[in-house]
Amino acid sequence: MVFRPPLELLAGTRNSGKVREINEILADLPITLRSLADFHEIPSVKEVGDTYEENSSLKALSYARWTKLPTLADDSGLEVDALNGRPGALSARFAGVSASDSDRTGKLLRALDQHQTQPRTARFVCCLTLAGWNRGENASSTDPIILNVARGELEGHISTAPRGDGGFGYDPVFVPNGYAESLAELPSSVKNSISHRANALAAMRTFLESWLKQT
Ligand code: IMP
Repeated sequence: MVFRPPLELLAGTRNSGKVREINEILADLPITLRSLADFHEIPSVKEVGDTYEENSSLKALSYARWTKLPTLADDSGLEVDALNGRPGALSARFAGVSASDSDRTGKLLRALDQHQTQPRTARFVCCLTLAGWNRGENASSTDPIILNVARGELEGHISTAPRGDGGFGYDPVFVPNGYAESLAELPSSVKNSISHRANALAAMRTFLESWLKQT
């Protein structure tokens, strides 16, 4: 049997919560996961697209081009039905560019106060793009291409107040269907088995397994 050393793959994000989740979910694949924390000199890609797909592709291609590493980038967001799907792809900027997680969850809860008669149903959506090179292509001389795109969702509802201190982002106000706890109260092993990112990674994984055999 031919020994294949682990392949270096970049998680194209500076969000340590996302890196931790991707690491846990892909732990059994022959991959060494790097993150943008290893590449201080690289500027963050601006999320100028209108859709999760546009933003995750922009990030994956740009970071792969800069680092010469195959790159997995995600764009995710929270869609609240009573707010007609907002904040959606604008979730990170919902309360302004320099706002904190608690500023964003606070703004969300106040926005829902205006819709008290409507259901508080919502979903997290994640779009993952893998950019890199096909077998035999030279990363130093060839531009990266999009190798695969995968999407995952997690249905639930928005609680009336934040609960728990695990996870990140909107986790304290999101209660997944089938659970009484918020995502921030559930153990990370539970979140990582049901999350939008886990569902997108499960879809990406099938591609990664065959691509890893080629590279
Ligand atoms: P982006 O994908 O980095 O643009 O993140 C979009 C926004 O959604 C950020 O404000 C994140 O905090 C939030 N978000 C994405 N995934 C999650 C999650 O798993 N839990 C809570 N918030 C999330």
